[in-house]
Amino acid sequence: MEKVDADLAEAQRVEGCGVCPEGKLHRADYKRKPRGVPSWPDEPKRISFCCDQEGCRRRHTPPSVRFLGRRVYGGVVAVLFPAMVYGLTPKRIERLRQALGLKVDRRTLARWRQWWLGLFVQSPFWKEAHARFMPPVCQGSLPLSLCLKFEIAERRDRLLELFKFLSPITTPQAWKALVM
Ligand SMILES: [Zn+2]
Repeated sequence: MEKVDADLAEAQRVEGCGVCPEGKLHRADYKRKPRGVPSWPDEPKRISFCCDQEGCRRRHTPPSVRFLGRRVYGGVVAVLFPAMVYGLTPKRIERLRQALGLKVDRRTLARWRQWWLGLFVQSPFWKEAHARFMPPVCQGSLPLSLCLKFEIAERRDRLLELFKFLSPITTPQAWKALVM
């Protein structure tokens, strides 16, 4: 996932500022403390850039497969948990929580699922992406239906493909429209 983030960042860096024609981008990473992920090795940094032109200094944060806006729920947590909560019993949630060592309660999971069914479904990103799926993805069972579409249970690398697919919504600007 770090490698993918590095690639996404490099693409942004090569593009330059875009606002001022001369603007070159310099690294100015964000430090982010992950929530609900106690075993994250180091405090992860979200790759970010600043334009080097005096008077612009605009910040550019590339899409990411690890971060969502200003939050650092790992992509795994954000995608998998609501997927599993679909039809989950309290017992299964507990087992899941123990297996992954995560501190999330049922209310958090329910809130995330609400997000998928509400703000996510109404986002311009999803409306556009949804139209491209053939056969269509069932919106009522998101994000499980998306996980099935990407066949993440069959092959592990498919999960990364799913994160790449979702990465456009992770820039702070795009994410702003997706939180209340
Ligand atoms: Zn600039």
